[in-house]
Amino acid sequence: MTKPPEPAPDESSRRLTGDVLVVGAGVTGIYQLYRAREAGFSAQLVEAGDGVGGTWYWNRYPGARFDSESYTYAYLFSKELFDEWEWPEVFAEQPETERYLNHVVDRFDLRRHMRLGTSVTSATYDEQSATWTVVTDDGSELRTRFLVAATGVLSVPFFPDVPGREDFRGDSYHTGLWPETPVDFVGKRVAVIGTGSSGVQIIPVIADQVASLTVYQRSANWCTPLNNAPITPEEQAQLRAGFEAMREVLNTSVAGFLHPAHDRTASDDSEEERRAFFEKMWNSPGFSKLSSNYTDLLFNDAANAEWCEFIAQKIRNIVEDPALAEQLIPKDHRFGEKRPPFVTGYYEAFNKPNVSLVDLKETPLVRINERGIETTEGERQFDIVVWATGFDFGTGALMRMGIRGRDGLALNEHWADGPKTFLGVQTTGFPNFFFPGGPHAAAGNNPRYNGDQVDFSTDALTYVRDHGYDVIEVDAAAEDKWTAMVDRGAVDAPFGEKSYFFGTNVPGKPRKYLLNSGGRPKLFKEIEKVIRSDYKSFRLSRSSDGGDRRQG
Ligand SMILES: Cc1cc2nc3c(=O)[nH]c(=O)nc-3n(C[C@H](O)[C@H](O)[C@H](O)COP(=O)(O)OP(=O)(O)OC[C@H]3O[C@@H](n4cnc5c(N)ncnc54)[C@H](O)[C@@H]3O)c2cc1C
Repeated sequence: MTKPPEPAPDESSRRLTGDVLVVGAGVTGIYQLYRAREAGFSAQLVEAGDGVGGTWYWNRYPGARFDSESYTYAYLFSKELFDEWEWPEVFAEQPETERYLNHVVDRFDLRRHMRLGTSVTSATYDEQSATWTVVTDDGSELRTRFLVAATGVLSVPFFPDVPGREDFRGDSYHTGLWPETPVDFVGKRVAVIGTGSSGVQIIPVIADQVASLTVYQRSANWCTPLNNAPITPEEQAQLRAGFEAMREVLNTSVAGFLHPAHDRTASDDSEEERRAFFEKMWNSPGFSKLSSNYTDLLFNDAANAEWCEFIAQKIRNIVEDPALAEQLIPKDHRFGEKRPPFVTGYYEAFNKPNVSLVDLKETPLVRINERGIETTEGERQFDIVVWATGFDFGTGALMRMGIRGRDGLALNEHWADGPKTFLGVQTTGFPNFFFPGGPHAAAGNNPRYNGDQVDFSTDALTYVRDHGYDVIEVDAAAEDKWTAMVDRGAVDAPFGEKSYFFGTNVPGKPRKYLLNSGGRPKLFKEIEKVIRSDYKSFRLSRSSDGGDRRQG
């Protein structure tokens, strides 16, 4: 068979839909689209949702809000943008964050480059032309030089495998797929399955509206107060005046937060001092209970147990029924071993006469039926079932996108034993493909390190273009080194294998740590090294001559 003539490089470029195609309009994808266009690329974005916001578009359940301080989560690339937006609360609720992200999209005129309500169903790399062909669920085919998947780590809702889920005749909702039309809970018999970060947010908010609320708990979590507060005009002015200083602190902190690290271990203090300190922690905002606590809290069993007992006593003091309080106190993990949720009025909700708990460790789920939920204790009937059962963390969206790299290699095959990446942005065998905000990034305040990855990806594309190349692919050695660093970090990570950060909530998923324990400083350091060495960890080439101009 005669091979068809190969298209001249300029011909193939002419057929391109654009230089850069971004998938996902969350906080990462919006920034990626902005950066790519600023850098002079023709860039478009495709998003499955009908609106922008990603997490803050899909998770619109009552009570959804930040655990990160709003102003530290916001974009920091434009002082003007920072100055013109007023966050009403330290920890903003979902509608405010969705409004903010829409404001950013319009302020930087990005909406006309977006196709909303469109899912990518496959993406295939063609080595000859060094382009990606992307197919969407409306049948369109887009061709791009560079494909950037900003598809999120918490964007694929997970449902546990309980028989009969489809049989339920009432209304069912997953917190991560919440409808745009508000759900009317008034006077309804409601079940909430799951007491992770989303479950504990929705429960206290709907408890007053419903006729009855039954909470199905698989495992209790160490919930501590969020301690939210309004931001006063004076504080707003201080934030603006301190913008540069705040950016500096965020850029150098391991997890991208402002909370100062403590300078003492638990044993530096007397028992009385520890009690006073724990009280201070209990009253501190959000994640500071993790990042500003005793330096050895996550690694010293005795210190951790003392803090856990302090929280347990708080739960016993809040929850009036002693047996119920005991059920709400975790027995199977230490504080920080799983991502700790932060709450407002969660334990108090269980003092309401219409709220009850079913402990699934004592009475496991049997099935869902058309009327409600059966456990080994019997059946309870409901009008509404809320699934607050989390996500296929880290790799869920990327593994569902039908991605095929060089020689038809499927990403699912390449990552069958867990993701392999360099800097959490590229993987070998998939040239011109980037995935900022995916697995192997840091842990903590997401937009800070996802933003670093977007900056890096954009700088890399710019370097490629400005040096006359059109193909960039990470070297296997660099990928192996970064992946080994992530795996090694898993051993010392405070999060244990019970945490979804290991993917263990999803049956069949490899037990691999999906975060980089070195945090943002490690990411920064490595990025700087790559830039200083002229992208030595990458192979750069031109599609037309088919060979490397320079080997990494
Ligand atoms: C309820 C909740 C609260 C959270 N609170 C915090 C917090 O306080 N602080 C914090 O740092 N992080 C928080 N997170 C984590 C949060 O996911 C990140 O902060 C951030 O929103 C991630 O942004 P992203 O753009 O990377 O991904 P996402 O916001 O998840 O956006 C990814 C987008 O990609 C789209 N997409 C995926 N696959 C495809 C496809 N095949 N085709 C087309 N589109 C696709 C999705 O529809 C989605 O809109 C929270 C997460 C949840 C679920």
